[in-house]
Amino acid sequence: MSMHVLVTGGAGYIGSTAAAALIHNGYRVTVFDNLSRGHRAAVPLEADFVQGDLGDRAALDTLFQMGKFDAVMHFAALAEAGESMQKIGLYFRNNVTGSQILLDTMIAHDVKRLIFSSTAAVYGSKDSLIHEDDPHEPASVYGESKLMTERMVRWYHQREGLRYCILRYFNACGAMLDEHGRAVRGEAHQPETHLIPLTLQVALGQRPHVSIFGTDYPTPDGTCIRDYVHVEDLARAHILALEALDERAAMTYNLGNGQGYSVREVIQVAREVTGHPIPAVEAPRRPGDGPILVASAERISRELGWQPRYPKLHDIIASAWAWHRAHPQGYAEQGI
Ligand code: UDP
Repeated sequence: MSMHVLVTGGAGYIGSTAAAALIHNGYRVTVFDNLSRGHRAAVPLEADFVQGDLGDRAALDTLFQMGKFDAVMHFAALAEAGESMQKIGLYFRNNVTGSQILLDTMIAHDVKRLIFSSTAAVYGSKDSLIHEDDPHEPASVYGESKLMTERMVRWYHQREGLRYCILRYFNACGAMLDEHGRAVRGEAHQPETHLIPLTLQVALGQRPHVSIFGTDYPTPDGTCIRDYVHVEDLARAHILALEALDERAAMTYNLGNGQGYSVREVIQVAREVTGHPIPAVEAPRRPGDGPILVASAERISRELGWQPRYPKLHDIIASAWAWHRAHPQGYAEQGI
């Protein structure tokens, strides 16, 4: 019998990519998602799908009675730093309270393996590589909500025997290609707020320009520096983490390439990939953004052998471009 994994948020960008990777590796997958931000069409065909909300304990109990899960990958969350600064309560309720209800349900049903999606936004800005034990100083409510959930997870480990791996993603991007090189799963937020999809939408002629949020940061070109990591590399780290839970009961890892790019550099690489001039307009800072976040992923590399397969920003943006060109309306054209 193959292992059965519950994937919360498996209709979202990273969750659906990880669900597909799990299936590819022989796992059985059930996706639980409220579709508030995700897309039904992003859920792999081979996965079972249950629509529901983490705030609904009764729905979760039914799900866990049905499923007999061996592990949970918990992606479901609101994940936009900018939005979180405006909608504080929504972020704490959805991300912290929702996770707490999930954790209680897991323990009640004796499911004690968790992979949790955390973020670089738990750290303060740093102009050298960020390690896992560096200070936690979230600049946004989003980052705070993830840090609070991490802390809960550790208490459930200590008091309830939960085995966990916390994965702190830096900037997820790129698209999953199939064996024929076709982009099958990619970024499709509604409304879109992320830098790479917005930049590529300009190249598609869907927007007149991209905005650069802040040009007075303490960085060489004045714009924010981030570590852009391919979503397939993130997905692979989840499988490694799941396999490692037998040996290790408590893990926390950064996932990034250890290479920072400024907003201006990202837009420039997108110009090279697309051959489009992509006009950029300077705009004020976006609340919730720190200047520099670049990962050291040395720990997961050493302990689990994770190495990014797509570390080059050019390749990452090329895969995202393949997705956006093939699916200019995201999942909308699939009618769901
Ligand atoms: N950004 C920007 N213009 C945009 C969207 C984002 O300049 O239209 C910047 C943003 O301020 C941040 C970086 O691009 O420094 C990455 O932002 P994104 O929203 O893609 O990811 P986040 O870092 O919030 O996860």
